[in-house]
Amino acid sequence: MSKAKKTAVTPTREENFPEWYQQVIKASDMAENSPVRGCMVIKPWGYGIWESIQRDLDRRIKETGHENCYFPLFIPLSFLEKEAAHVEGFAKEMAVVTHHRLVAEDGKLVPSGKLEEPLVVRPTSETIIGDAFARWIQSYRDLPMLVNQWANVVRWEMRPRIFLRTAEFLWQEGHTAHATAEEAMEETLRMLEVYRVMSEEVLAMPVIVGEKPAHERFPGADKTYSIEAMMQDGKALQAGTSHFLGQHFSKAQNIRYQTAQGGEEFCFTTSWGVSTRLIGGVIMSHADDNGLRVPPRIAPKQIVFVPITRADGDEALIDEFLAPVVKELSAQSFGGERLRVHVDRRPLAPPEKRWEWVKKGAPIICEVGPRDVAGGTIAMIRRDGELKGQITPKDEFVARAASILADIQNSLFTQAKTMLESRTVTVKTKDEFLSVFSGDTTFGRKFVRAKWCGDADTLAMLDELSVTVRNVPFDQDGAPGTCVLSGRPATQEVIFAKSY
Ligand code: AMP
Repeated sequence: MSKAKKTAVTPTREENFPEWYQQVIKASDMAENSPVRGCMVIKPWGYGIWESIQRDLDRRIKETGHENCYFPLFIPLSFLEKEAAHVEGFAKEMAVVTHHRLVAEDGKLVPSGKLEEPLVVRPTSETIIGDAFARWIQSYRDLPMLVNQWANVVRWEMRPRIFLRTAEFLWQEGHTAHATAEEAMEETLRMLEVYRVMSEEVLAMPVIVGEKPAHERFPGADKTYSIEAMMQDGKALQAGTSHFLGQHFSKAQNIRYQTAQGGEEFCFTTSWGVSTRLIGGVIMSHADDNGLRVPPRIAPKQIVFVPITRADGDEALIDEFLAPVVKELSAQSFGGERLRVHVDRRPLAPPEKRWEWVKKGAPIICEVGPRDVAGGTIAMIRRDGELKGQITPKDEFVARAASILADIQNSLFTQAKTMLESRTVTVKTKDEFLSVFSGDTTFGRKFVRAKWCGDADTLAMLDELSVTVRNVPFDQDGAPGTCVLSGRPATQEVIFAKSY
């Protein structure tokens, strides 16, 4: 057996994928667990990635006609009680504020000043935004009402996992109200498509777009749609959801409008959200055994220069060489934004700095020493390839930098897409189905695409295997067939997978 190659992250993905995930987050210095279980501290590199996602998505949300608002963190308990399915769905995981001050008793601080009505820390804002919609919407002229908010929410998750499932997370939540069911459905699907494009073009994360099965619907929704991505261990990650809420919330909250003819109707509402979970998706889609690989579109720093200084005076020499290079690069654009270029001048050993940027996954890392200055070259490392410096004439690098970033973006997408396609299998029989899910190693795990009847007894079978129905993809052959689990007639094809 050949000796294993030394990697910057241990364990490797193959050795222990869940632990590798934690170690990548540590090695890339993105975030850490907080003293409060299930909460996280997002450090500059992780937060910078979130800001890039926010900037891109915020632009898309505005381009589709929505405006940003901000609603309170606290929701009166009575608001949540209005929609029965909604409160039932969220009751198990809510943080509730019952007191408004602390008093000292026997040297200890204890809560005091009991609130007349408990306040819930928002797990999602349908109810409090619906309350505003009921006031804001009077006539058909007020419709559609299209708002979005960037906020934090709290869901008391019992099995938290940093970025993927945290008790407090950051997200955007869109909330809209429409005159007709058709318009609300169009909106629901429009925003799902926005998520697909953002995920694929910006996060380089290919997704399967479809409708969630009934038992996985958002509490209070008529229909829930999702984008589902495949992580490198073959598990699915629900990366975003868009809900058609019908008239459940408008009836519960009295969101009505006067029609052009003078009658009164309840609105049709939607909501849709993506969260900091996307960062977890980026890690498990693109990181390797040397750490993170950030898609250039969302990298807080896209090109990092590491000066190789050995003797006195090298620093000034390299600085002088790099100044015009940095200036020219910073004036260029990529993905609609200026290039983000950084010179790492910290007083650390150059190899240490280089490895730090490899682990953080900066897309292009360039080393420049006195010999490069003399020869007018740069040693370029592409994080998506072999970690060897390619000696490149400085002017050529400046001319090609944006296209190299585009190439890295594409190559990360292609790698992820190839994995998704090659590890999605179509099966016809239950035996085939069982054999796929028994070959359960990190790189052996697969998505199964097969017909499914949707009956309750098949859910019990799935539970036993810890397999879930991810969604009903939009592209269907529509041909009648038989359910892979029950053998009963079934037309719809679904994606089955182990999941996060
Ligand atoms: P939902 O309002 O339940 O549809 O959630 C919207 C999106 O937020 C989901 O599709 C997930 O991507 C994400 N999400 C839900 N719960 C969590 C959590 N505990 N931590 C991080 N992201 C979450």
